Amino acid sequence: MTGMADLVGDGIVRTDVVLGPLTTYKLGGAARYFSEPPDLDTLIGVLGAASDEGVPTAVLGRGSNMVIADAGFDGLVIRLSSGFNEITHRPDSIQAGAAVSLPVLARSAVAEGRLGLEFYVGIPGSVGGAVRQNAGCHGTETRDVLCTATVVTSAGRVDNRDGEALELSYRHSNLKDDEVVVAAAFCFEEGAVDAGEAKMREVIRWRREHQPGGTLNAGSVFKNPPGDSAGRLIDSLGLKGMSVGGASVSTRHANFFVAEGNATAQDIFDLVRLVRTRVRSETGVDLSPEIRFVGFTGESP
Ligand SMILES: Cc1cc2nc3c(=O)[nH]c(=O)nc-3n(C[C@H](O)[C@H](O)[C@H](O)COP(=O)(O)OP(=O)(O)OC[C@H]3O[C@@H](n4cnc5c(N)ncnc54)[C@H](O)[C@@H]3O)c2cc1C
Repeated sequence: MTGMADLVGDGIVRTDVVLGPLTTYKLGGAARYFSEPPDLDTLIGVLGAASDEGVPTAVLGRGSNMVIADAGFDGLVIRLSSGFNEITHRPDSIQAGAAVSLPVLARSAVAEGRLGLEFYVGIPGSVGGAVRQNAGCHGTETRDVLCTATVVTSAGRVDNRDGEALELSYRHSNLKDDEVVVAAAFCFEEGAVDAGEAKMREVIRWRREHQPGGTLNAGSVFKNPPGDSAGRLIDSLGLKGMSVGGASVSTRHANFFVAEGNATAQDIFDLVRLVRTRVRSETGVDLSPEIRFVGFTGESP
C-alpha cells in the first residue's frame, strides 16, 4: 500500500508549500502536504493515502473564495491543474475539467454559440469551486446550468451527481472537504454569438462599476440573508472603511473586505468576526460567511 511518505518520495506530494500566492487574498501559510495530481488515478491514490493515515484534506481551486490561516494547514491540500483543464464541446453538453477557469468557460461557450454560462465571465474561480459553492450572479447560479458533476470521494469512488444530489442551494452544496470535483457537464441553449458577447460585456461593466477592482479580496464575504443584502446591512451601520490591521471593509462595496500589503489572514478573520458581531447585535441578523476559512482553529468567525 502506498503511503504519504512514498508519495512524497515520488514527488507526487510536496511538503510545506506556501498557499498564499495561490489565493486571491495572497495571504496564508503553508500546507503540510500539497499535491497537484496529473490524472484521476494519481488523485485517487493521494486521497486514499491521506484517508488511510487520517490526514485531513482540503481542496484548493483558484483560491478566490478562501482565506488560509497564517499558520497554514496541517493536512493535505489538493489542487487540480493541467490534467483537469480541458473543455470539450459535446453535442448535448459542455464538458469542463474542474480546474477550468470560469471566465474561460464562459467565453468558450459563447464562441460556439452556446449560451447560458455568460454569468461565469465575472466570477474568478474554477469549475470545481463553482460546483462546491454553487457560484452565481446576475440571476443565474451553477445549479441552473449544471447537468452533472463528477466527484471523487476519499474512498476512491467516482460518482456523477446532478444538482439535486449535490443539494445545490444558495452558495451551498453537500460536498465534503475531502470530496473532489474533477469535471462537470453543463447544459446550454443555442444562440447568437453576438448576444452572448453582449451579455458578457454587461456582466463585466456591472462589476467594474460596483466592485473594488484592483484590490486583494475574495468576493462577497457573507451570504445575503433572506430578502436582504449583506452589503446593505453592513453599509447601513456605517461600517465601510472599518479595519483590523491591514484588512478593511471596502469603501466601494461593504460586503467585500480588502487586504493591504501588510494584512494577515488573522486580520481578515478578525474583521469578519467583528462585522458579524456588530450586525448581529445592532440588527438581530446573523450573517453567515460565504468565504471559506482553512486552517484556523476554534469557531468560524
Ligand atoms: C472579485 C471576486 C468576485 C466574485 N464574484 C462572485 C460572484 O459573483 N458569485 C459567486 O458565487 N462567487 C463570487 N466570487 C467567489 C468565488 O470566485 C467563487 O465562489 C468561486 O466559485 C470559487 O472558486 P475557486 O476555484 O476559486 O474556489 P476556492 O476559493 O479555491 O475554494 C472555494 C471552496 O470550493 C472548494 N473547492 C474548490 N475546488 C474544488 C474542487 N475541485 N472540488 C471540490 N471542492 C472544491 C474549496 O475546498 C472551498 O471550500 C468572487 C470572488 C472574487 C475574488
